[in-house]
Amino acid sequence: MSADCIFCKIVTNDIPSNKFYEDDEVIAFHDIRPIAPVHFLIVPKVHVESLASCDALHQVLLGKIMLLAPKLAAQLGLKGFRTMINTGREGGQEVFHLHIHVFGGGDTLPKV
Ligand code: 5GP
Ligand code: ZN
Repeated sequence: MSADCIFCKIVTNDIPSNKFYEDDEVIAFHDIRPIAPVHFLIVPKVHVESLASCDALHQVLLGKIMLLAPKLAAQLGLKGFRTMINTGREGGQEVFHLHIHVFGGGDTLPKV
């Protein structure tokens, strides 16, 4: 838990979110500024700044988050989806608590 971290506050319910999944280690909630018809975030409960701050101790947690993405996407009716992890300020990261973006819904995703 980091005192000034917005995602830590979402984890503890100090800030409300449109959370639709929770277990002992992770939560998933819809992004407040979606850039696709479906846009949600999978967030570990433990405060880790970014993918670059992870080490071997986070290996199982990272695997769990990746495997959760297709399960939650299917639950939301997505037939396909895109994942993204912004890492560091120069990688576009704005919230410095590790999270994976999941986008989907129709054919609106730009080709990359
Ligand atoms: P980043 O650029 O760090 O990868 O993405 C952070 C994401 O968190 C952004 O897409 C932003 O819209 C989302 N976000 C920031 N604050 C909140 C919040 O209070 N609630 C929710 N649901 N999403 C947030
Ligand atoms: Zn945090």
